Amino acid sequence: MREIGHWIGGAETPGTSGRTGPIFQPATGQIQARVAYADPADVDAAVQAAAKAADAWRETSLVARARIMFAFRELLHRNIDAVAEAITDEHGKTLADARGEVTRGLEVVEFACGIPHLLKGEYSDQVSTAVDAYSFRQPLGVCAGVTPFNFPAMVPLWMHPVAIAAGNTFVLKPSERDPSASMLVAKFYAEAGLPAGVFNVVHGDKVAVEALLDHPGVAAVSFVGSTPIAKFVHARATASGKRVQALGGAKNHAVVLPDADLDTAAAELTAAGYGSAGQRCMAISVVVAVAEAADSLVERLATRAAAIKVGPGRAADSEMGPLVTAEAAARVSGYVERSDARVVVDGRNLAVPGHDGGYWVGPTLLDGVTPTSEAYTDEIFGPVLAVVRVETFEEAIALINANPYGNGVAIFTTSGAAARRFTREVQVGMVGVNVPIPVPMAFYSFGGWKDSLFGDTHVHGAEGIRFYTRAKAVTSRWPESVSTDAALHFPTAR
Ligand code: NAD
Repeated sequence: MREIGHWIGGAETPGTSGRTGPIFQPATGQIQARVAYADPADVDAAVQAAAKAADAWRETSLVARARIMFAFRELLHRNIDAVAEAITDEHGKTLADARGEVTRGLEVVEFACGIPHLLKGEYSDQVSTAVDAYSFRQPLGVCAGVTPFNFPAMVPLWMHPVAIAAGNTFVLKPSERDPSASMLVAKFYAEAGLPAGVFNVVHGDKVAVEALLDHPGVAAVSFVGSTPIAKFVHARATASGKRVQALGGAKNHAVVLPDADLDTAAAELTAAGYGSAGQRCMAISVVVAVAEAADSLVERLATRAAAIKVGPGRAADSEMGPLVTAEAAARVSGYVERSDARVVVDGRNLAVPGHDGGYWVGPTLLDGVTPTSEAYTDEIFGPVLAVVRVETFEEAIALINANPYGNGVAIFTTSGAAARRFTREVQVGMVGVNVPIPVPMAFYSFGGWKDSLFGDTHVHGAEGIRFYTRAKAVTSRWPESVSTDAALHFPTAR
C-alpha cells in the first residue's frame, strides 16, 4: 500500500503521530493509499521549519524570488498531466477537468512571477521641508493554508505562490481525501530552487487544522471549505491574533430571462451544473427560470442532462466522474429522495459497467423547487440542478439577495440594461453575464460575500498581495545642515 507522508523542511516524512487515513479511488471504491495524519508535534515541526527558513527567504531579492517562481511555473506546466492524473485518481473528476484546474492554478503562479512589480510602494518627495515619505509592504512570516477536496491543486495555488513570492514561508494542510497533488507541487518547488522550509505540507484532519490555528508561530491563515468550518476557522484563528481569510460554501444561482437564447443557456448551465459532478464551489446549483422561459428551458436541460456520459475520470469519453466518497454519494441521493419537487431526470441508482463499487450519482434535474425546501436551502454539492420558477426579474433578484450565500451568480439575457441592473443590485461577490462560472482571472481577486467569506480580503490579485503583506510607512529627513527648529508641539508640515 502506498504511504503518503508530510513534506517538512524539504523532505518527505511519515511524522510521529502514527495515525493515517485511507485514500479511496472514487471510480472503484477501493483503498489505493494511506496518508499520514499530523498531530500537534508534526504541525509544530512544519511551523518550525517554515520559521527557520523565513529570515533568509524574506531577505532574498525580489528578482531572485521571481526567478524561482518562473522555474516553478515551467515545472508545473511541463507536468500538468502528472498532476491531473493524481487529481483524477483521488478526486474522481475527469482528466480534462483536472487539467483545467491545474491551468487555472498555473495562472496564479504566472501572476506571482510579477512580484517585483506587484510590491512597488509609494513615494512622496518633500512632504515637509527636507522630509520625504514613503510606504512599502513587508511579508507577515509563516502563513498557513487549509484547503478543500474539490480543487486539490487550484485552491492551494490561489494561496502559496502569492504568499511565497511576497516573502512569506508557508505550511499547507490540503484535504485528506486527495493529498497527492500537493506532494507533487512540493517536489516542483524544491526542483525550482525554493529553499527547504519555505513550502511545507502537513496532512490530516481537524487535529492538524486546530494545531495550525492555535500555533503562535503562524501569522496568517487562508482557509477554503464549507461554511460551518470557515466560520469556525475564522473565529478560532482571529481569537489567537492571526490574520484570516476563510472562504466558505455556496449556492450559486443562474437567472434565465425570457429574452435569453435558451439553447445557449441550457448548454452552459448543463456544463456548470454537472461538471465535476457538481462538486465546484462555483457550480450552478439553482436555475431561476423567469416567467415563460421556464417550460422550454426545463425541456432543454432535461435532454442535455440525460445525454451526459458518466464514467471513470480516466476514460477518454467520460464527461462526468463519480462523487468523492460513498458518504457524499449517499448524501446527494438523500436530497433527491426527500425532495417534493418534480424529479425530471433521476441520477440515483446509476450503474457504470465494470465499476460497481464507484460512488456514482448521475445528473439529476429537479423542477418546481421551493425556496423553503432543503434542496434549495442546503449546499448539496453534487450533480443536482434545482429549477426555481419565478414570475418577474425583481423576484429573481430578491430571491438571490435573501439567500445567505453570496459566492457566484450568473444571468442569461440579451438585454444589456437587464444585465447592468443585475450586476449592480445582486449581493454576490462574483457575477457572470452569459458566463455561468465567473471565476475571476488570477490578476483579479476571487471571493464571495455573506456566508461565503469570513474575513475581509479575497484571494489572489491585488487583495491576495494585501493579505500576505503589511504596510510600513516611513517619514525620512536627511537635512543638509543640523536641525535647530525641533518643537514640542505635534509635528506638522513646514
Ligand atoms: P470541508 O469544510 O469539509 O474541509 C475543508 C478543510 O477543512 C479540509 O482541509 C478539512 O480537512 C478541514 N476540516 C474539515 N472538518 C474540520 C473541522 N471540524 N475542524 C477543522 N478543520 C476541518 O470542505 P470539503 O468538503 O473538503 O470541500 C467542499 C466545500 O468547500 C464546499 O462547501 C465548497 O463550497 C467549499 N469550497 C468553497 C470554495 C470557495 O471559493 N468559496 C472553493 C472550493 C470549495
